[in-house]
Amino acid sequence: MKYDCIIIGAGASGLMAAATAGYRGRKILVLDSANKVGKKILMSGGGRCNFTNYYVEPESYTSNNPHFCKSALSRYTSYDFIEMVSKYKLEYHERANGQLFCDNRSNDILDILLSECEKADVKIITNCKVDRVEKNDGFILDTTSGQFTCDSLLVATGGLSIPILGATGFGYQLAKQFGLRVTATHAALVPYTFSGKWLDITKNLSGISMEVEISTNSTSFQGPLLFTHRGISGPAVLQSSNYWKLGEEITINFFPTQSLEGTIQKWREEGKKRKLSNLLAEELPKQFVNTWLQLFGEDKPANQYSDKEIKLIAEQFQQWKITPAGTEGYRKAEVTQGGIDTDEISSKTFEAQKVSNLFFTGEVLDVTGQLGGFNFQWAWSSGYCAGQYI
Ligand SMILES: Cc1cc2nc3c(=O)[nH]c(=O)nc-3n(C[C@H](O)[C@H](O)[C@H](O)COP(=O)(O)OP(=O)(O)OC[C@H]3O[C@@H](n4cnc5c(N)ncnc54)[C@H](O)[C@@H]3O)c2cc1C
Repeated sequence: MKYDCIIIGAGASGLMAAATAGYRGRKILVLDSANKVGKKILMSGGGRCNFTNYYVEPESYTSNNPHFCKSALSRYTSYDFIEMVSKYKLEYHERANGQLFCDNRSNDILDILLSECEKADVKIITNCKVDRVEKNDGFILDTTSGQFTCDSLLVATGGLSIPILGATGFGYQLAKQFGLRVTATHAALVPYTFSGKWLDITKNLSGISMEVEISTNSTSFQGPLLFTHRGISGPAVLQSSNYWKLGEEITINFFPTQSLEGTIQKWREEGKKRKLSNLLAEELPKQFVNTWLQLFGEDKPANQYSDKEIKLIAEQFQQWKITPAGTEGYRKAEVTQGGIDTDEISSKTFEAQKVSNLFFTGEVLDVTGQLGGFNFQWAWSSGYCAGQYI
């Protein structure tokens, strides 16, 4: 059977595009190599899917062309998605910084998308890996379930993160086959790894979480940091990884709310005889305080510190500098940064500029959102907009 459009990838973006185009009366087939659709949706947000954010701005995305995402994000906003899920009476709640999560489980979002696809008469085949695509008048797809043909093709194969969930580089391979540029890809929203002495130190601190400010060369984020067996993780760390390049130094402020130098000076002036570790442990995890004081100072009564000692300690608690050895890579990354060069794609239709009827949406494109529901919103917005044209 010939379809108007075949969509490769039954993830967030592919399902959104499929329902949108199906409602327009287009005959749509979605193919996915995984045994289940929407695996990343199911895994997301700790099982509660952070499906969008109240404050979606183009500035929350990185791309070689930061303007590319603007059009789709304004044509299909987080409020449009909220309106759709509200029709299904989805129960959800807001967390910090406008992040919206399901009250119950991520499956609720997937169920809504599948309901939309069913109403729009979309056909979905799982366990069907697309191996090869050829273009003549339309497209011919060789898959593990046989050959399919269509007039237009939408590639929504996502990025490389979490290969066990079905991530492949097939979208990039296809883009290159059709002469489209692909920018360098790397793991993002990903924990950092340390080496040498710092690996041993973080191993000892693993499991400890604290509120920090973490800065790269270009930006800063405030939020939780978690020491791990291999380095550091947690929301603030993942956020910063989108702006970090291998070999660059990062700076961490473990006491982000006030000046530590001023605080210790105040304790000294008040004649506090309690040990500095005990005073600091009222604000920060004790084990961390002990480790940092052992490394960078001496633990004695607060009224016995010199200005020089206070300055040195404050600097190491508030401007600790480290060059991560690397990241945990695609195995642990939430997203892939880089991808199909957006200069090759129409920001209105998502069609390739030089290959008619070939479309790309979602994470396979060089558009990466920050943590907080921005990546799903990009999947919904790009999928919806392409769904108007496929
Ligand atoms: C653990 C985890 C948690 C996350 N949590 C959040 C969150 O809470 N909020 C948020 O905004 N973002 C989150 N993300 C990111 C978000 O899941 C992705 O950005 C989003 O799913 C991308 O959607 P997509 O449709 O472009 O690609 P995907 O959802 O990755 O879908 C691509 C699909 O293509 C299929 N495919 C690939 N190659 C082939 C082939 N050759 N043939 C057939 N099918 C193929 C894959 O099996 C897959 O189903 C999370 C990611 C991870 C890994």
